[in-house]
Amino acid sequence: MSMNTQGRPTRPGEADGAFHPKTFTGNSGLDMEEPLIFEFGSLETTGVDLDEDDGVEFELGGHRRQAEIGLPGLAEPEAMRHYVRLSRNNYAIDSGLYPLGSCTMKHNPRLNEKMARLPGFGDIHPLQPVSSVPGALELIDELAHWLMVSTHMSAVAMSPKAGAHGELCGMMAIKAAHTAAGRDPKIVLVPESAHGTNPATAALLGYKVVSIAAKDDGTVDLDALKATAEEHTGNIAGIMLTNPNTCGLFERDIKLIADLIHAADAYFYCDGANFNAIVGKARPGDLGVDAMHINLHKTFSTPHGGGGPGSGPVVLSERLAPFAPLPFIRKTQSGLELVETTSATTEGEQPFGRMTAFHGQMGMYVRALSYMMSHGSDGLKQASEDAVLNANYIRVGLQDLMSLPFGERPCMHEVLFDDSFLKDTGVTTLDFAKAMIDEGYHPMTMYFPLVVHGAMLIEPTESESRAALDLFIATMRDLVMSAKRGETDRFSGAPYLAPRRRLDETAAARKPVLKWTEPEAAEVSPAAAE
Ligand SMILES: *Cc1c(COP(=O)(O)O)cnc(C)c1O
Repeated sequence: MSMNTQGRPTRPGEADGAFHPKTFTGNSGLDMEEPLIFEFGSLETTGVDLDEDDGVEFELGGHRRQAEIGLPGLAEPEAMRHYVRLSRNNYAIDSGLYPLGSCTMKHNPRLNEKMARLPGFGDIHPLQPVSSVPGALELIDELAHWLMVSTHMSAVAMSPKAGAHGELCGMMAIKAAHTAAGRDPKIVLVPESAHGTNPATAALLGYKVVSIAAKDDGTVDLDALKATAEEHTGNIAGIMLTNPNTCGLFERDIKLIADLIHAADAYFYCDGANFNAIVGKARPGDLGVDAMHINLHKTFSTPHGGGGPGSGPVVLSERLAPFAPLPFIRKTQSGLELVETTSATTEGEQPFGRMTAFHGQMGMYVRALSYMMSHGSDGLKQASEDAVLNANYIRVGLQDLMSLPFGERPCMHEVLFDDSFLKDTGVTTLDFAKAMIDEGYHPMTMYFPLVVHGAMLIEPTESESRAALDLFIATMRDLVMSAKRGETDRFSGAPYLAPRRRLDETAAARKPVLKWTEPEAAEVSPAAAE
């Protein structure tokens, strides 16, 4: 066993030339090689040993099963081990630093989990009579209050289930406001550095997306915006802008942008995914924002990744508040009321419809409010300050070796590098990211934002200690020097030590294999293989 530069033992493996036995089981130490459940569960096995039912009539009308449904049978401990082993192949914020830029992979405090499991929250059902869940309504209302105060906005639509869903909600409110005013503008402006969900949202609503160029410093080009606004005057529905933007930079002209957009009879949608950089420091409502989604699963620590439930409430300005979707909570003299239908609305309320079947992600609401209340407003502000400090600590620790596309100016909560430091090394951004996996790090966000060549976007969040950041910086420095020394093998074949080597990600995305087929059936005939 050898040591790396920080004195940590490296894992034995191909990379260091140490003896690496081919094991009989395919397992590697206590890392199990896990087959698909179909490959080891057998149709004949079942964890239940009840006798075959005798003479019991099926009561499913004509819907009687004709053949086996083909689900693998397993005993309970086997089924449990299968999923636990799979989960161990899953890198998570609970296993290590997760510097995925734009995603705010922060620690999920266990207190939040405990609160979400309280029977009064964990066991309620969306079809339960509203009168039996006043506490749940109060919690939603309290969370809405925290969101409106921290953003200084007039209303909040709680039900959207993710950031992208929130974008759709906000833009639908904007569309409804235009319709109510008898306007039908066709264009949404989106800066070049935007997250892909922004133009996708606009396109989904039938808008034409017009891109706005960035200046050399990575922020929106105000002159280009002015020119575009003039060119399409009267036909602009709004702008979708992220602040701080996806280059990790604060848009200093944001108020001028808001004024320009409002003067064009259009609305300002702010993508709030990067809110973690400014909580307690700047309020979107003061910046002229009309609608902004908040990713509770980013800024407010509710778990995310793996497609798990997110939550993307949308705060709305006074002008858009009347169009907030159903359902919403209304304060009355006799307490809180849940407004679920148009017939229950009152003068001035013109909901554009609804986004979800029920009321949103209750479990996430509990976690987010638990996070907010346990931090307090001062703690939330400090979390943002620490997130920005940590990103800048990494920036300063790496800027002499890696390349900053916009110069050595302070960043917000994430730091963006480009690939010019890899020029002539034969190592690409992708290779570099894969080598990080061998070192035990989830890669940073790669090739996004698109405005930067070979982008590497690093967001440590406030959860990481200084020691963790120092080790990360030292590891990154070791990798960069290795690339510069021409040790291309360390990169081009990486990852060497992951359960799977480098995958064909394009084929995986374009031709996903979503259905298991029995090996015999899948076997290619010799003729076809030739
Ligand atoms: C994460 C993110 C989104 C989308 O949020 P989801 O919750 O993943 O749908 C939108 N914009 C930006 C900038 C993001 O980082």
